[in-house]
This record gives sequence, C-alpha cells and structure tokens, in this order.
Amino acid sequence: MENQASTQESLYEKHIPIFPRSVKGKFRTFKWGILAMAYLVYFALPWLPWDRSDAPHQAVLFDMVGRRFFIFDLALYPQDIIVLSMLLFIAAVTLFFVTTLVGRAFCGYFCFQTLWTDFYIWIEHLVQGERPARTRLYKQGWNLEKVWKYGLTHALWLLASWWTAMTFVLYFGYAPDLLVKFFNGHMVTAGYTAVFFLTLSTYLAAGVLREQVCIYMCPYARFQGVMYESETLVVTYETKRGESDKGRHPAVQGARTREERQAQGYGDCIDCGMCVQVCPVGIDIRNGLQYKCISCGLCIDACNTIMDSMKFPRGLVRYDSEINAKSDNPQKPKLDLLRLRTIGYGTFILIMTGIMIYNLATRTSFEESVQQIRQPLFVTLSDGEIRNRYQVRVTNKTDHEETYVVAVKGIPDGALDFGGSSNEMNVRAGKSLMIQVNVKLPPQVAATTDTIEFIITPKGKPDEAAVRKVRFNSKHEG
Ligand code: SF4
Ligand code: SF4
Repeated sequence: MENQASTQESLYEKHIPIFPRSVKGKFRTFKWGILAMAYLVYFALPWLPWDRSDAPHQAVLFDMVGRRFFIFDLALYPQDIIVLSMLLFIAAVTLFFVTTLVGRAFCGYFCFQTLWTDFYIWIEHLVQGERPARTRLYKQGWNLEKVWKYGLTHALWLLASWWTAMTFVLYFGYAPDLLVKFFNGHMVTAGYTAVFFLTLSTYLAAGVLREQVCIYMCPYARFQGVMYESETLVVTYETKRGESDKGRHPAVQGARTREERQAQGYGDCIDCGMCVQVCPVGIDIRNGLQYKCISCGLCIDACNTIMDSMKFPRGLVRYDSEINAKSDNPQKPKLDLLRLRTIGYGTFILIMTGIMIYNLATRTSFEESVQQIRQPLFVTLSDGEIRNRYQVRVTNKTDHEETYVVAVKGIPDGALDFGGSSNEMNVRAGKSLMIQVNVKLPPQVAATTDTIEFIITPKGKPDEAAVRKVRFNSKHEG
C-alpha cells in the first residue's frame, strides 16, 4: 500500500514562486500608462465634488440607502436596471471582440488583477531588488535581512490593499465623512466587514497568489481560447527565424553576428532566457501559444532589447497571427478586422450602444402611472353625476425634490377632485408618491366619454409634461 501511494502523482502542481525581471520597452511603458490612468480614476473619483441638492456632493456615489446611483449628472434608480444591464452586456461583448482581435490583451493590460499585481511586484522590486536579489532572498534561510525585507514588503502590500478596499467603500457614501467614521469607530458594520474582506482578498490575489489567479481561478482564462482564430494577433515566437536548422544557440565567439550564425545554421535566438525571466506568469513563449499567456507583451520588450544589442532585426517575439508567423514569407503583422466573428461582435456592440444611448437620451426625469380603481368600476352620485376613482403614482428620478401638477384634459371645472388636498404632489428625490383622485362627470358628459387624459407636469417645466390616457366608465362592462 505504501509503495502504491508513493508512486501516485499529486493532482496539484507545486507552486514555484515567480520573480519577474523588470524590463523597458513600449509595451511596458503602455502598461504603466494604463495603470496610472486606472489608479487615478479609481482612487480620485470618490473625492471629486459634485453639486447636488438632495444627496452628498460627490461625483460618483452609490447610495444604497436611497437606492440610487449617481454618476456625475446621471441619477440611476432600480427602474433603470436596463441601462446597467446593457452596459454589462456591451462590456462582455467588447471583451469577446478584443479577444478575437488581439487575444488576452484585456488580461495583460486592463484587468484589475494585472494592474494590482504589477504594482505589488513593483513594491517587491523596490524593497527587495531585481530578480536575482529576490531569488537569492527567497532561497536563503531566515535572518534579519529576510525578516526585515519580507516584513516591509508585506506591510506595504497590506497598506495598498487597505487603501484599495477603503476607496471601494468610499463610493457608497460621502467620502470625507466615511473616512472619519472608519477611524472613530462609527462606520456601519457592513462597511468594516467590506473593508476587511476586500483588504484580505486584494492582498492575497495581488501579493501572494498573483499569476495563480489568472491561471487557476479566472473563468475567462478557461474559455477565451475558443475565441481565438488563426488571424488573431497573439504574442508569438517566430520559430523558423529563432531556431533555423540547428536551433537556438548562445552568442559565443564565432556565433555572434547574424552572418556567422546563419552560416552555422543557428537561428536568431541566442537563448538568453530574458523573455522567460520577465514573464509575469513564468512561461517560455518559445514553446508556442499557451493558455497561461496573458498577452502582456513584456517578452516582446525583452527580446527586442536583446535584438537591438545584437544588431538583429526586432520582432523575433511579436504580436502576430498564427497564419502569418508560420508562413514562408511573413508580412508585417496587421489587425484583421474583416472577419465574420469580428464583424458580428462589432455589429452587436454598435447596435447595443445605440439602443443604450437612445434610452439615456430619451430618459424622462420622472415616471408616472395612472390606474383606474375598478372596485367599484363607477359610482352614480345622488345628484346623478358619475364618479370614477384613480390612483396616480409619480416617481421622481432627479436628485432633488420636485413638485408635480396633476390635471385632466378637457373636463368641466371642478370635475377633478383630490379629496380636499391640492392638485400638486411634492416628491423627494428618488422617491415615489401615490395619491387617489376622483373624476366626477355630469351624466350627459359621462355618457359620451370613454377615455380621459391625465396630464402630469413637473412644476414650471411644461415641456416635460406626461400624458396618460385611461378609461372612464359610466356603464357596467358587458
Ligand atoms: S509569454 Fe510574454 S506575453 Fe505571455 S504572459 Fe509571458 S511575458 Fe506576457
Ligand atoms: S529574449 Fe529573444 S533571444 Fe533571448 S531567449 Fe527569448 S527569444 Fe531568444
């Protein structure tokens, strides 16, 4: 039994820590640029003031208590869920579109996991040094240097995680107040719980687990492969050029210049391993396209630097399509937009974006409904007048209190009865109000009236008046 157990293979691959080497180049610069912009937006937005009359003065605010979202001048309520759903749908299809064009570029440049992991690796590099120093520190036994450097790295990671979590929570209330409440112990329990779990998850995902999140935990990594086509631009090693007849070979005496190498049957790859050392997921792109590759382009930067130093043409590792990279005479890589799948995704995105913009542009500042109370359908009063009753409901979708005037078109004076109250409804921002009204018509008018039109107008804004046509009953329905 013992022998049998010892020959069984583990189902889990042993985790080998990755210490990526830093690299310079256009893709690295692009990644830093996106990171700076993303951080600026994420961390600064809760502090951006915005004038509001009936809500905290914050540009982006998710007011859970008031059940409304503010995004600058746009106030969204639960009834606007369609807009949010469309936004999510467009984002998902855009992701598919980008993947079909340039593989996992979203993962390599825009994903939160990548953005935060990049920053955490930068902290690690800052405290512990370049890749060789970090590898040495990892392998050496525990001493004062290791305790101090590991301690400082993890403390800075925790600090960054806490601020990330805190910022997320600041979107759900007035940021200056919430921050003070966090420190003086007056924040709600849900707030403290959110900060705790988000701090922990950010620290684990970006600091401890890093590439393992992309490889084992991200669902997108599992199915993005089906969107690849042979025209998709992916990070590719040009095997023919790199290996030639006799394979890759170090740039040793007699095999340094391109001419020398070609004469001996060696390819352009000098087997320096830089493309592997900079890779944040620890793979060797020379082994071909792998699902772990997040298309970050750092190996391209690394290899181009080596090619420059060797005075070889750049692009041994590059974004290219499988079809072009494997052809006998590869052309300059280009984005191939005119494919069935990209046209399909693109058309979908355009249509959905158009519908969403139309929805937002024609969105009214309030919602109204008028319903006839059908029990009883009508009442004949002692003076012969016919009375119908209605429920009028108004939802104020602005960020301030509004007054709505209720009227009915073309009926005699005094026919509209509010039961002693006024014909105006004061509705607080984001709230709904319902009133009951009576419409009483003389019998001869009632006999010729099948429908009436309620007009609900925000006070002082006649252009925004809404009209609701409803039935008026004076006979029992057969
Ligand atoms: S192989 Fe290259 S593109 Fe892929 S993850 Fe590694 S460094 Fe990034
Ligand atoms: S960086 Fe370029 S030359 Fe160096 S091992 Fe990688 S592919 Fe070969």
